[in-house]
Amino acid sequence: MTTRSGGFRDRQLGPTLAHAARHPFYREHWARHRDTSGALDPWELLAALPPTEKRHLSEDISPMLDDGDEIVGVGFSSGSTGSAMTRYFTARERTLVGAFAQAAAGAAPAGGPRPLRLDFLSTWHGVGGADTSGAVLVPGTVVDDEHAERTVHMLRRRFTAPGVASRVSMLSGGVVGVHAFTRYLVDNGIPVSDFAIGVVGLFGGYPGRSRLAWLGEYWRCPVLDSFSVSECRGKALVCPHCGYLEFDPQLVAQAVALDSPELVTAGTARLAVTELYPFGIAQPVVKYLTGDLVEVLEDTSACHPGHVGGLRRIGRVETSVVASVDGTTTVLVPSQVLYDAFDRPGVCRADFRSTLSGVTVNDLAQPHVHASLSETEGVLRLQCRYRPDDSGIDCAGEALAALRSWPAARAWADRGRLVIDVVADPATAPPRAKFA
Ligand SMILES: [Zn+2]
Repeated sequence: MTTRSGGFRDRQLGPTLAHAARHPFYREHWARHRDTSGALDPWELLAALPPTEKRHLSEDISPMLDDGDEIVGVGFSSGSTGSAMTRYFTARERTLVGAFAQAAAGAAPAGGPRPLRLDFLSTWHGVGGADTSGAVLVPGTVVDDEHAERTVHMLRRRFTAPGVASRVSMLSGGVVGVHAFTRYLVDNGIPVSDFAIGVVGLFGGYPGRSRLAWLGEYWRCPVLDSFSVSECRGKALVCPHCGYLEFDPQLVAQAVALDSPELVTAGTARLAVTELYPFGIAQPVVKYLTGDLVEVLEDTSACHPGHVGGLRRIGRVETSVVASVDGTTTVLVPSQVLYDAFDRPGVCRADFRSTLSGVTVNDLAQPHVHASLSETEGVLRLQCRYRPDDSGIDCAGEALAALRSWPAARAWADRGRLVIDVVADPATAPPRAKFA
């Protein structure tokens, strides 16, 4: 499965591959395909090329500068799920990408005052790039009480500049920032009626079902999640109904088989993304395996026909529960399902280094849960240990039901090939960062 949708992607894929092929890493990485590359159209070529892995990004994709190129910016990936990648931007890329963003913004409907959007500052995640909302940005931070209060003030105040809305109506930021700010508001008794927010946008994390629902309850407006990888600029909006990922035009997504480099059109797969020229001029990112697991949406899982054949993110490759049986890899429980199963009252959270006062509920960090898989005489046993919190709530039954709601887990359990145990264990170690 590959996102095509024509237009910008059809125009830019060929130039992207031709440009990347000049980079020493890709010249070597794609050497075997050099003879056939002229005979294939760019989409066939992209399907045939070997994926790029995380280790390549940090070690091998150094900046490639042409005569007169000048580095004018540096970004970096978080490194929270592997080694960090440093991304260098040239003056040429900044100019070309700026023109692209302007063209995209020009296509947006005009008229009326520009909306005001409060953005929580984030030093990573590549969401910046092509902002097409036409909004005027107001910066916000939650590093301590003083900054949180200043952010509250910006949301309460009325603006009087010509051509600009009088109130901030959009809130956006990383999951942790928006959640921490909302937790500050809730626990300090600040009512949502003080504000005029009509939409909340999230990026840079895996908020899970209960956190999204809690944010929606407070803000009383749509909460739009987006998927992004910090190695690329751009994002995919997450469909709130079926999870379909609607990628920005500069990103091409592909579904790569779990245990081979082949592309797949159904089932569970690994996500690969390509950043189209002129994004990533100095360091092209082509067919990059992000470490995410996706599922190809079908008639039964997509919310409407337009989302059939698209991708939905279901977790991380390395923290999902995966069985290799008879030479076939099966994802028994994706990490996002594991997260959602234990993201509930009764499960202890990792400590969150909150510098905000008045925050009484620690639901910011991840639940303490550890899953392990073993096999005895052909029967798999999945043991999920969690650390109970001090609420006295026994949530083992609900967590088990949530795990069994995943079709692969249920099917294997029904056939007697999988037994799932959920065990409350106060000694459960803290979870890995961003395990979902
Ligand atoms: Zn949908």
